[in-house]
Amino acid sequence: MGIATVNPATGETLKTFKPLTDEQIEEKLATAQSSFEQYRQTSMEQRSEWLIAAAEILERDKEKFAQIMTTEMGKPIKGAISEAQKCAWVCRYYAENAPKFLADTPVSTDATSSFVRYLPLGVVLAVMPWNFPFWQVFRFAAPALMAGNAGLLKHASNVPQCALAIEAIISEAGFPQGIFQTLLVGSDKVEKIISDDRVKAAALTGSEKAGASLASAAGKQIKKTVLELGGSDPFVILESADLEAAVSTAVTARMLNNGQSCIAAKRFIVADRIADEFQQKLIEKFQTLKVGDPTDENTDIGPLATPGIVADIDRQVRETVSMGGKILIGGKPLDDRPGNFYPPTILANIPKGSPGEIEEFFGPVALMFRVANIDEAIALANNSEFGLGASGWTKDEKERDRLINELEAGAVFINGLVKSDPRLPFGGIKRSGYGRELGVDGIREFVNIKTIWVK
Ligand code: NAP
Repeated sequence: MGIATVNPATGETLKTFKPLTDEQIEEKLATAQSSFEQYRQTSMEQRSEWLIAAAEILERDKEKFAQIMTTEMGKPIKGAISEAQKCAWVCRYYAENAPKFLADTPVSTDATSSFVRYLPLGVVLAVMPWNFPFWQVFRFAAPALMAGNAGLLKHASNVPQCALAIEAIISEAGFPQGIFQTLLVGSDKVEKIISDDRVKAAALTGSEKAGASLASAAGKQIKKTVLELGGSDPFVILESADLEAAVSTAVTARMLNNGQSCIAAKRFIVADRIADEFQQKLIEKFQTLKVGDPTDENTDIGPLATPGIVADIDRQVRETVSMGGKILIGGKPLDDRPGNFYPPTILANIPKGSPGEIEEFFGPVALMFRVANIDEAIALANNSEFGLGASGWTKDEKERDRLINELEAGAVFINGLVKSDPRLPFGGIKRSGYGRELGVDGIREFVNIKTIWVK
């Protein structure tokens, strides 16, 4: 499939787009470079003003942007509106805090004056996924632009109208023409773009395969990358946990965005003694979720973004079951209607070596595991190639400290939902990637951390 808007709720192709030609890509690269040369001279105050204007546009037109997101990738409309608002938040956050994060940092040495200065790198390529089609881009763009960089967005091929809308927001906010451009290109063009001398670094959010491919191409040119890849986050519930709170959060943690979130809780690791009760309550809550039209405000779960994702989930569930896994509810695509619908599903008795144990499930499927104690819980949680987020539930302080120290993840949330927040760094370890977005760490990824020594 090329670059197109295909409504995942109906399967209807609404609009197709011609990918840029090599000449058009060259023009955009040249524009990005010349725009950067000017833009790097602008003051922080000026950049902040533009970014606040972008926040205002996001807030003003949040319903319109939400419609585009929902139409292109099927997230429930309420979530799409919140996403537009969250983008405004990250813009305001960096507009306010970037001057402080990137201020010269004095260091006492043998010099008369020595300090660290943070300077932009230049044109940065962002390869982004469709699942949070606005948020993933703004959490890259807000700090990158505040730092004085230029951005080139290669968005996922199924969200071209989101990509164009974001470019338009940044332009309407007043940023100089060409400082943030959307490139409507397929993934086959990424290697050539990152290899271009004018592109200094890249961020990719997406699958391991895409991450490895971009990072190898960038590595050949000795260019920095930040990779935010997949996750199979554990949600560990120990005996002392507040079970009601854990169950309610578990539903959101698994089902947010139709289950298509990198930091969704995917593996539920529950202490034996409370496992039956947890499982029963989870089944009951899943049964109340309304699956259907994502433009309806009462819908909890819309369609998955593409038919391919339904096929992947279906394969993963079937293989896990054929090896001995048990379906507690759901477990089959909803083929009584058009669109890419898959029901809330719970799998238990997950066999060793099955997809349920090893793979990331990018859809509304919860994987249940039982453990005798915290040692087993931590060992099982860490038995994954991924290391993005982890949620741990306990009232015991010693257990809490063990979860914080021993869970192999870029973030551990105790008694709460793993979520992204502009104020906190976000990123993974192991095959979930490297580098951080958001917070002070995020804005310092795409800068030259320059040492200054003056006698
Ligand atoms: P994907 O196929 O990797 O797509 C993501 C982006 O990479 C798209 O723009 C895609 O372009 C591009 N791409 C694909 N193959 C590429 C290649 N070989 N070289 C360069 N670029 C390439 O990812 P997805 O399956 O759509 O998204 C889901 C994955 O993203 C999940 O694993 C999820 O966990 C992860 N994710 C991670 C985070 C995080 O912050 N850690 C956040 C959200 C999602 P095309 O669309 O043109 O193929």
